[in-house]
Formats: sequence, C-alpha cells, structure tokens
Amino acid sequence: MRRIRPVVTRALQCLIVLILFTGCPGQAPSRSEFVLGTVCSVNLYEGGSQKVYQTIFDRLREIENLMSASLEDSDIGRVNNAAGIEAVAVHPDTITVLKRAIYFAELSGGAFDPTVGPLVKLWGIGTDAERIPREEEIAAVLPLINWRDIGIDEDACTVFLTQPGMRLDLGAIAKGYAADEAARIIKAAHIKRALIDLGGNILVLGAKRDGTPWRVGIQNPAEGRGAYFGIAEAADKTLVTSGVYERFFESGGKRYHHILSPRDGYPVDRGLLSVTIIGDSSIDADALSTSLFALGYEAGSVLAESLANTEAIFVFTDLSVRGTSGAFGNFTITDDSFSIHADAY
Ligand code: AMP
Ligand code: MG
Repeated sequence: MRRIRPVVTRALQCLIVLILFTGCPGQAPSRSEFVLGTVCSVNLYEGGSQKVYQTIFDRLREIENLMSASLEDSDIGRVNNAAGIEAVAVHPDTITVLKRAIYFAELSGGAFDPTVGPLVKLWGIGTDAERIPREEEIAAVLPLINWRDIGIDEDACTVFLTQPGMRLDLGAIAKGYAADEAARIIKAAHIKRALIDLGGNILVLGAKRDGTPWRVGIQNPAEGRGAYFGIAEAADKTLVTSGVYERFFESGGKRYHHILSPRDGYPVDRGLLSVTIIGDSSIDADALSTSLFALGYEAGSVLAESLANTEAIFVFTDLSVRGTSGAFGNFTITDDSFSIHADAY
C-alpha cells in the first residue's frame, strides 16, 4: 500500500491532464483500475457502457495474468521457473508479444532484450529489494541475457529458455500490447472516440467531438509521471514515453533508473532523460521507446527515421529536445525550461 499510493496519485494527475485537454472537465465518462502494475484509465465517449468497460478491464487483467514476470503462475512466471529444464505451454497471446519483443531485440541490436529479467531482479528497482548490486553479481547474470536463447515452438505453443537462470521480462512491451487490445475492443463496440491511458502509455481513438485532434500532454521526464512539458495534437495515435522518471532510486546523489543495459548491466546512461514515441501501434511504440532510450540519440534517431509513421522526441539531461524529421509538426513545447536543441533547426 505504501508503494501504491504515490502511483495512484500520480496517475490521477495524469488523468486530470488528459481530461483538461479534452475540454470537457467533469463530464468525461471513465474508469480507472490498478492493473498491469499501474493505474489504467479508459475514457469512452458516445456509446460507452459498463459492459464495454468491463470487457476492457477483464482483458487487461488477463494480459497481466499471462505476462507479469512477478506472478509465479503467469505464463512468464512458469517459463522462468522452467528455465534450462523444459519447454512450457503458454497462451498464443504470450507468443505474439514475445515474438514482437524478439523482433525489437534484433532491430535494436540487443539494446532492448526481453531476457533482461535476471538484471531486473538483481537491481529490484521499484521494489522493497532495490539496491546497487556488486560488480561480480552483475558479471554473473550478464551471460544469461540473450534473446537468441529463447526457444519458441509456435506449433506446440511452447516457450523454452535454454539456459538455467534465464528470466523473461515483458515490462517494456506488455502495456503497449494491452493498449492495442483495449483499442481493438473499443472499435469492435463501434465506439469512435476514446482515451486509453495505461500508466502513461497513451492511445487516443478518433478526435474530439468538434473534429479537432486530442491534445495530449507529453511526459516531463524531470518530474514525476503526469507532469508534462509539451503538448502533442493527435488523432488515432499512440504516445509512449520511456525514461528516468518512471522507477528509480537514489544513492550517493546518483539516480539509478529502471532501463538496464544488457551490455554492461547498469542503468543506461546516454545523456537522455526520456524518449517519447508517437506512432500507430502501441506494442511497437512501447518497445521502441525503451529501445531508443537504450540505444541513445545517434543510433535511436536513425532507427526511428527508418520506420514508417513513427516519430520520436528525445529529451536530453540539459532539457534540450530533439526529434525525428516529422516530430515537431504536431508537437509544441509548453514548459520554458525545455528548448529545441540548437542542431535541430
Ligand atoms: P518501459 O517503461 O516501457 O521503458 O520499460 C521498462 C521496463 O522494461 C523495466 O522496468 C524492466 O522491467 C524492463 N527493461 C529494463 N531494461 C530493459 C531492456 N534493456 N530491454 C527490455 N526491457 C527492459
Ligand atoms: Mg517500453
């Protein structure tokens, strides 16, 4: 409870930001629940019913029960417990997300890696066990992190981690998949306009009632979740941010955040505070925001430019901002502490 309350407060702030920008405060029908390790909020406009909300939140909970690394009896928990021992039968949805995670692991040259689990466990960031591990502890788990050691048998619908001690962690991609699933349910119910906010992983369906785009606050990575430094105008888009503000602890004046380098085992430090992706698919945007944060600006912007319908906004530690070629078309900085990087003009 001690840990959940600040998360709830921050998520409510975030929800308030979204409601403010929709221009109908107090009227927005919505539902919020703690699921997928965060507060998830959905606003359905015109045609929303308790039945649709229930279907959405049941689905979010189902995804959590399949893909959470911290639940022993989830698909991921069972695969992890059988690492080096045997293949485990899983739900086809788990295979779908895992295959997409492997796609981004390859695309990012391993900066993004769903087998990062042993490192996540060792650092325990965001849990009661968070601490700076000893160098030899890090060295011991690094060989276990390699997405090529995941065996998937699609016909048998099984997953096998070939090395004992390996652990999958889909924390960087599962919320994106969940947002896409929520959108799918909403569209199937013929609801044209909706806001989905899964702990800051945002997907907007349709546009505002007057036909103009939604105005979505972009996370200010120098503050807690829900604070924003700019506004993006978006219709039928997903907006996903990864950064140092999300989960971290501080020790000796240094911040240790939750995106870990599979190469050296420490929180990634590439001079960035955050990366926001604006795209069409939330599973891809979620994987990409983590991938680009881990890759850094130089390699990350090249990768983003190579992808269709994908814009990326990079915030550096000096609060300068760079973006891919189309990023500033629909995005405006509203906080004076931030400025567009001199080279970006
Ligand atoms: P996100 O907030 O989407 O960027 O995801 C961060 C979460 O993904 C962390 O809390 C870990 O569970 C996991 N993670 C950390 N480092 C990596 C990495 N290099 N590749 C893939 N997942 C990671
Ligand atoms: Mg992510």
